[in-house]
Amino acid sequence: MIVELDAIRGVSLDTIYDSPEGKLIQTCIQCGTCSGTCPYGEYMEYPPRRIIKLLQHGLVDKVFDTDSMLKCVNCYACMMKCPREIHLTEVLLQLVKEQTVIKLPVVPPELQKALENNYRYGNPMGESGRKRANWVQTSPVPIRILSQNPEPVDVLWFVESYPAYHPRGQDTCRAIAKILTALEVDFAILGNEEKSAGECGLLSWESGLAEALVDYNMAIFSKYKFNRIITSDPHALDAFNFRYKMYGFKGSITHIVPFVMEHIDKLKPMLKKSLGHSVTYHDSCCLGRHNGYYEEPRELLKAIPGLKLTEMVHNRINTLCCGGGGGGMWLDTYFKSQNMERLSDRRIKEAIDTGADILAVVCPYEIPRFEDSLKVAGYDKKMVVKDIMELVCEAMED
Ligand code: SF4
Ligand code: SF4
Repeated sequence: MIVELDAIRGVSLDTIYDSPEGKLIQTCIQCGTCSGTCPYGEYMEYPPRRIIKLLQHGLVDKVFDTDSMLKCVNCYACMMKCPREIHLTEVLLQLVKEQTVIKLPVVPPELQKALENNYRYGNPMGESGRKRANWVQTSPVPIRILSQNPEPVDVLWFVESYPAYHPRGQDTCRAIAKILTALEVDFAILGNEEKSAGECGLLSWESGLAEALVDYNMAIFSKYKFNRIITSDPHALDAFNFRYKMYGFKGSITHIVPFVMEHIDKLKPMLKKSLGHSVTYHDSCCLGRHNGYYEEPRELLKAIPGLKLTEMVHNRINTLCCGGGGGGMWLDTYFKSQNMERLSDRRIKEAIDTGADILAVVCPYEIPRFEDSLKVAGYDKKMVVKDIMELVCEAMED
């Protein structure tokens, strides 16, 4: 149900009514499914149903006087449930979001800082671009960096900012490097030449920033010869698969989980160590709801000896967002000031209820978010958060 890109290329709020999306708005039956399914709908003065109603009547400007869209975490829940298949998250809310930030009297400082950092340093954390590939020095296997060895390569691994700089993201990177090497994949990374993809939601806040990052990354890609891109970040996957394609990106990008599943027959005999844990899996909004990868992560977990998979109440298309998308990573302080429950706090309660002792994830935002929520709730002795690649790597060790 991903929107046809040609249908929205160049569309703005002024021209939306002449586009196929604008015509779809008129089919809204005001059922309220979108607002009812929105994890933050109760905190929005204008939840999605009301925004569509205002759009129908050309009155959407009213939304810009509120912070409603600041509370949208790009979780795709409304869009995937709409009986009229209106592209809420992908198109309409994005357009409204961009105007919201332009018209906000004060942008929340954390978000402002993340946007500025992306401009200045190529990552939202404000880390030095020269340190982006430092984690490679701690890798258990050699990693080829294209600027040092620019020969053609089969797979370009787009590492992304959180994995490159965050200590827990680096744990996942080391695991991925080991798995790719064991699978004899011909891979390389961009190293310090890489800059943030821009994160699907973050891109929508600032079109100038979006264009700068898209131009930069597409120019870097064009320097090297490779057949496909992989990434462990579902937000980067989403950005390349959706936003970048609007700017002419034609590459093929795959998330690391489906990529590893392509090699499952070769991988399985290497998974010798029984882990002896009960695990529950959190569906990432971008990987699951928007890109349809629900079963591949589960199949990979089931291939690990001694792991018992148990489901949370909300799973697959009904997953509960961790709250990190759409700029949410940089809005926790703002949400707290609005007395809003952190979505990661809501989610870990469901995870604990399963009785599992491992919460398995596939997104670099989720590890720090869920680890913090478990700590705050006092559950950090009961449950640990692991990227699926870490679990695969553990099962490979003898
Ligand atoms: S779910 Fe779709 S049809 Fe129902 S109110 Fe929302 S936009 Fe309209
Ligand atoms: S994308 Fe998610 S957070 Fe945003 S309006 Fe839709 S349901 Fe709410």
